[in-house]
Amino acid sequence: MNDIARLAERIRDAESVVAFTGAGMSTASGIPDFRSDSGLWNRFDQEEFYYRRFRSDPAAFWADRLELYEAMFGGDVGPNAAHRALAELAASGQLDAIITQNTDGLHADASNAQRGDSAVPEIVELHGNAHRVVCDECGRETDAAPVRRRIESGELPPRCTDCDGVLKPDVVLFGERLDEGTLHRARRHARRADVFLAIGSSLTVEPAASLPRTADREGAMTAVINFDETPFSPTATFDVRGDVTDLLPELRANIVE
Ligand SMILES: [Zn+2]
Repeated sequence: MNDIARLAERIRDAESVVAFTGAGMSTASGIPDFRSDSGLWNRFDQEEFYYRRFRSDPAAFWADRLELYEAMFGGDVGPNAAHRALAELAASGQLDAIITQNTDGLHADASNAQRGDSAVPEIVELHGNAHRVVCDECGRETDAAPVRRRIESGELPPRCTDCDGVLKPDVVLFGERLDEGTLHRARRHARRADVFLAIGSSLTVEPAASLPRTADREGAMTAVINFDETPFSPTATFDVRGDVTDLLPELRANIVE
């Protein structure tokens, strides 16, 4: 029996299974990661995406942000086999929650593509969602697509139609704290999990990287599923290396008939 088959057995026996995902989940969907050699931070200047720049020069921030958005989602982006495998596990009642560092919304897209009456996982987006904007004054959230069109036709910076405050991408910018309530939900899932899967994340960015350690400390069985070794790999019960778009469908096939 290989590691995936053994892990599948543990998932079938578990009461609560939680997946935590990072950029490696979405690279097969054509979304570049941030930190590898070919990552976005080698093509864009990280300094231009700090919250303080958004505050001091929102027009210039948004002009750069639109270019970054195009680099991330310019292709025809959709869920890949790894997203679908997790959505299918959730639909069959074998996965309770997905905590993600990604802002691409692809877990929700994959879950929405499942049959209407099947179970839906709770999705915790730690770093927000790039397909939404939020008013920096009143907190009103709206769909980003019409706002991008307004920017393209010259509205810089885009403003809230309710209060005239400046709109911000609904993502956690550099220099911004993670939302306390969102982080609390993520930690609660990590503490309650019997099985905690860390998938496609280098597990280097805090506080997200501490979640598998929290799960481990509270007695969960942990697995790292990633192309490369992570700082948590030596601690994990299972350390499975490879392409998540191969490994997750294999895992799902071992669990769901
Ligand atoms: Zn507003």
